[in-house]
Amino acid sequence: QAKAAGRNNFVLFDPAMQTRVTLRAQLEADIRRALANQEFELHYQPLAGMRGQIAGVEALVRWRHPQRGLVSPAEFIPVAEETNMILPLGRWVLWEACRVLVRWAGDPATDALEISVNVSMVQFHRPDFCEQVLEVLAQTGARPERLRLELTESLLLNDVECTVAKMQRLRAVGVSFALDDFGTGYSSLSYLHRLPLSQLKVDRSFIWGALTEGHGAAIVRVIVALGKTLGMTVLAEGVETEAQLAFVTEEGCHFYQGYLLSKPLPEDQLTAFLCR
Ligand code: C2E
Ligand code: MG
Ligand code: MG
Ligand code: MG
Repeated sequence: QAKAAGRNNFVLFDPAMQTRVTLRAQLEADIRRALANQEFELHYQPLAGMRGQIAGVEALVRWRHPQRGLVSPAEFIPVAEETNMILPLGRWVLWEACRVLVRWAGDPATDALEISVNVSMVQFHRPDFCEQVLEVLAQTGARPERLRLELTESLLLNDVECTVAKMQRLRAVGVSFALDDFGTGYSSLSYLHRLPLSQLKVDRSFIWGALTEGHGAAIVRVIVALGKTLGMTVLAEGVETEAQLAFVTEEGCHFYQGYLLSKPLPEDQLTAFLCR
């Protein structure tokens, strides 16, 4: 109230902040409701070797909102992370991905495929993260060797000992790890070699820059060399043109992903794609 706003009183009501808080609270409630109503779904983007052999898929979550249609994860994952709704959502994604692996097992078209699941740092740094993954694997019966978890460089900002211990614990049962969007975060090269990573995913901004920016090609070359030196496979993200594919093949990438091969697809369309 204006009357109470005397000389020594702070103005507590900031309309812009109030709007942000309200919006976030609404989105949080909306995500909670959406989980209960099963409005989330996974789409799958194929990953291939350089001659087009499909090696696996990346699971990407979408929100089929009753009013807004299909909502992009770029819009709701950041809010889900801020509100901790990423914990139940991330668990659901993991569960769905493992169930898909079980559905795919035994079918020659899909049996050998790996599935990559994005893990938010909020999820990864929970003390019971390993238990959760092990529990989902056990409850679904999915083969851990088929599961790859994608982490981002921000994990290098946290306790490296603890990060390594968690990764090794899951590595021991066969789960593997990829470093996603490499080059866009805080890369601490002094720690990178300590992480049991099997794959480096070169962020698409570098793939796009490679053929258009002055030092673009050289940057990709250095990232590929770094990954190989550390014993990882290197995947080029966001390959959209034949020219980009030719370039990353020439540079020695092992795998690629991008609209040139396929957009992320719902499960039935993915199955059709694989049967082609
Ligand atoms: P990401 O993990 O780097 O996933 C790749 C993103 O690039 C996807 O966007 C994919 O659709 C897009 N993409 C792939 N190829 C191309 C291409 O050739 N051109 C262009 N322009 N884009 C391409 P999407 O599905 O919108 O996901 C955005 C981000 O949201 C993901 O980036 C990931 O960080 C996050 N995300 C998605 N699903 C999950 C999830 O289940 N859990 C968590 N924690 N994060 C998720
Ligand atoms: Mg990813
Ligand atoms: Mg990525
Ligand atoms: Mg990305």
